Amino acid sequence: MSTTPLTVQEIYDLAYHCLISNGCDDANAAAAARTISAAERDGAVSHGLFRLPGYIKSLRSGKANGHAQPKIEHLTPAAIRLDGDNGYAPLAIEVGTPLLVDAAKKLGVAVLTIRNSFHFAALWPEVEGIAAHNLVGIACTVHTPMVAPFGAKKPFFSTNPIAFAYPRPGKNPYVFDMATAAKARGDIGVAARDGHELPLGVGLDADGNPTTDAKKVHQGGVILPFGGYKGSAIATMIELLAAGLVGDYFSYEAAEADNKDGGPARGGEFIMALSPEILAGFGWSDHSEDFLTRLENMDGIRLPGQRRFANRESDTPRQINATLVEQIKSFM
Ligand code: NDP
Repeated sequence: MSTTPLTVQEIYDLAYHCLISNGCDDANAAAAARTISAAERDGAVSHGLFRLPGYIKSLRSGKANGHAQPKIEHLTPAAIRLDGDNGYAPLAIEVGTPLLVDAAKKLGVAVLTIRNSFHFAALWPEVEGIAAHNLVGIACTVHTPMVAPFGAKKPFFSTNPIAFAYPRPGKNPYVFDMATAAKARGDIGVAARDGHELPLGVGLDADGNPTTDAKKVHQGGVILPFGGYKGSAIATMIELLAAGLVGDYFSYEAAEADNKDGGPARGGEFIMALSPEILAGFGWSDHSEDFLTRLENMDGIRLPGQRRFANRESDTPRQINATLVEQIKSFM
């Protein structure tokens, strides 16, 4: 694979100008470009520039609103609803997070629900943004069906990601961010593009047979949930939180409503913040730190998030797929 070296700032600039030249205003372009360049910075390549062509397609088809102005509704002191005005999720998240943080700091727990927006990114930015305020963050979202529930061979769930961050004052938080599919579709797309095989158990081909061929899973096949029936139950919970409770589309409804332009489908997001200072009280940090230190000192352990945090430290240019860079430039 031939690559083009780009600094994180150059990645941001490329994404921002491409979004601006396709009809985004400054606030929407900047928020999406921050999310995309942060993903490349952290080595989360399936949610970096790889997503930009999809963002552009949804702007060009008129599905996504590049001038979205998220609207805030305080349902109760602890429940905030944000209407994304059919824009991309990064701006809605940036608008909603300070309100969520304030509420959780006062009340111990608060929920932010986001409707009418397009989520095409990883979820760690939102939970890390909450943990930066010494709060616990939990987030989940849905998109369109591509995962077969345990026992089935047809898609019903989306890859339904969930992220969790626990603050560690003075350190990076404990954070995991994972699809409840055996593998995220973005990563399967990257594997298909780059000719990499998948482990057995990640997906079925179009005939419902197990396969390691990423292309066969990506085109016409179906992804399996992680952890069998247990993963299937967690995927169900995510549909119920991010769609049922939020009041936006379940995965199958999002697929029915989508214009299939190749960009993200509309979907809700459920974000929760909890205050250990209020709930556990004095000493919460030392107590949790003892647990996490023992965990990370065990032989064979690396904590989730550590790969990204190590990548974040590097200020060398990121190696971006050269064909992708040319494709993005052709959109400008
Ligand atoms: P991975 O399976 O690569 O990783 C899941 C989590 O496990 C990460 O927190 C990762 O940390 C951690 N991890 C990986 N390997 C190890 C290990 N050996 N030991 C300990 N922890 C480990 O991610 P997924 O493929 O499940 O998901 C990828 C991304 O796709 C997520 O960011 C998710 O939010 C996003 N996504 C977004 C969707 C959307 O609709 N917006 C839909 C589906 C997925 P680390 O990052 O440090 O490797």
